[in-house]
Amino acid sequence: MNLSLGLQQCSAPATFTGKVVTTRVELRSAVSAARRAGQRIGFVPTMGALHAGHLSLVETSRAECPYTVVSIFVNPTQFGPQEDFLRYPRDLQADLQKLVPLSVDLVYAPPVEEMYGPGFGTFVDVAAVTSVLEGAFRPGHFRGVATVVLKLFQQVAPDVAYFGQKDYQQTVVIRRMVEDLDLGVKIVVCPTVREPDGLALSSRNVYLSPEERQQALVLWRSLQLAHRLVSEGEQRASVILGAMRGLFAAEPDVRLQYAALVDPDNLADVPLVTAPTLAAVAAFVGTTRLIDNRLLAPNS
Ligand code: AMP
Repeated sequence: MNLSLGLQQCSAPATFTGKVVTTRVELRSAVSAARRAGQRIGFVPTMGALHAGHLSLVETSRAECPYTVVSIFVNPTQFGPQEDFLRYPRDLQADLQKLVPLSVDLVYAPPVEEMYGPGFGTFVDVAAVTSVLEGAFRPGHFRGVATVVLKLFQQVAPDVAYFGQKDYQQTVVIRRMVEDLDLGVKIVVCPTVREPDGLALSSRNVYLSPEERQQALVLWRSLQLAHRLVSEGEQRASVILGAMRGLFAAEPDVRLQYAALVDPDNLADVPLVTAPTLAAVAAFVGTTRLIDNRLLAPNS
């Protein structure tokens, strides 16, 4: 079906002219036609509530692949029982509108029942890299992520899939799964898109009050501080992390969950920053949980 999904009711003049499908059967037939035509398939998995960060992934796919599929699916299995699955922002029509200028070939927006049929009982557990950072605070999160990404890879059968550095640990988990399960999908990681003041774009930023929006800047400020200390020659993780935590301590409505300096490949804690290192933070700002990270490169 070639849907404008009621967009004629919107005031914006352009409508989404690509294809929107909601079932695996329609997806498979659309993608296999592109594949038969010899087109390289690029895939951008998302949970919708699209922003410029998502769109940068789509642009990169469009630049590198003649056929681009975007999935929009709020995946229940990656949310914990106390998390925001029910209130997660959903607006398919607004998302399609944002995709209009990017000439996406296909949007796949399955309902939950299409992804998780009755009796569903198979999950993917990636070891080691899922037990730290996000994994330590969101038990089961990466099990849900790996499972849904594997299913989407099976359904879309892309050549290349695009992910954001914003969710750095996710990219490590997906790379591990692709390698371990011989999935043969190339993984491309795109830089984090930020607001002009440094706040990483996130679908969850809409939850922030204006005051919380200001306080949320402490995540980026702490990463910038780590970067500055390292560029000034500081190597001791204890000193760098102490300085980062000090910034969080000065924000009474922000509750730090972790500030960490880890090996970018295996996510193990590093005691000394003598090689490229990932600085990662997670914190609640009010009731909104935000994450951010940046790579630190010590002076050689
Ligand atoms: P989500 O909809 O949160 O599941 O994100 C879908 C994809 O967009 C993931 O690969 C994210 O890492 C990526 N993404 C989210 N926010 C950003 C951002 N600010 N910059 C770049 N990519 C992002």
